[in-house]
Amino acid sequence: MKIAFIGLGNMGGGMAANLVKAGHEVNAFDLSQEALDRAKATGCATFGSARAAVEGVDAVVSMLPNGAIVRDVYTSDIIGHAPTGAILIDCSTIDVATARHVAQAAAEAGYSMVDAPVSGGIAAAEGGTLTFMVGGTETAFNDAETVLKSMGKAVIYAGDAGNGQAAKICNNMLLAIHMIGTAEAFTMAQKLGLDPQIFYDISSVSSGQNWSMTSYCPVPGVGPKSPSDNDYKGGFATALMLKDLRLAMAAAEEADAAVPIGSRAASLYEDFAGAGNGGLDFSAIIRTYGLRG
Ligand code: NAD
Repeated sequence: MKIAFIGLGNMGGGMAANLVKAGHEVNAFDLSQEALDRAKATGCATFGSARAAVEGVDAVVSMLPNGAIVRDVYTSDIIGHAPTGAILIDCSTIDVATARHVAQAAAEAGYSMVDAPVSGGIAAAEGGTLTFMVGGTETAFNDAETVLKSMGKAVIYAGDAGNGQAAKICNNMLLAIHMIGTAEAFTMAQKLGLDPQIFYDISSVSSGQNWSMTSYCPVPGVGPKSPSDNDYKGGFATALMLKDLRLAMAAAEEADAAVPIGSRAASLYEDFAGAGNGGLDFSAIIRTYGLRG
């Protein structure tokens, strides 16, 4: 297939390279020359505008920073410029309302579009092991699936347009909540005199078990290797978790959903990022509880 890829940053660069590896012809565009140079080195053809990159393609994939940019790029340079038979796939993490608005504008102009945000970070983008959560019509999902499979290990249909974004922010709100809960439990256990490893051995096979504990433990030296073992470097940055929590809080308000614990998690991450920790992995929030090293 001939595929336009818009937004070749930390995530998009690796994703576009995997499309090339899968045998697709990739037309790349990014505002950054450095990103374009990197894309060229991985086998993409580079273009001077999104409008030029989408000419004559079978699919468009975007991986952009936020909803305002996604709305702008799609309405100015993709819708009305890509062939109407092309499937439009936005993989950025953005707000549900903008995802639905852009999908509606695309449908009115005769395009099929899906929102397909990802779970997995830069390593998964490079390794082609992302999970995609996809919102749109079933026909659009079927058209997008082949493209997405070249970049990920799982492609899951979530229902109507915007539902991919809804799944992503609900998942990440839950992740923030159980990471904070895990951090609190480990620190309290230690203050009560338990060794963190012994608490892990007990809780990981008891009803407190959860992903933040057994796959991504915030306590250095406990559980499988995770960013806590690397001074909280790498992994999923606190600033990105905060971005997703802000999207979740906006969506909760719009949907009139009660999220008392989610909103507490969002404010704890606001404080943690505001104290200069935005670049650290999100599990570093355990430092605010005073776990002894
Ligand atoms: P990034 O800032 O590294 O990349 C974004 C790219 O978009 C940049 O290269 C930028 O130059 C380009 N861009 C901005 N405006 C543009 C425009 N108008 N036209 C063309 N290109 C433009 O960000 P990232 O880490 O790659 O994240 C991209 C998306 O993926 C975000 O929505 C983010 O929330 C989501 N995400 C990131 C991660 C992660 O671990 N980094 C994980 C999951 C999801």
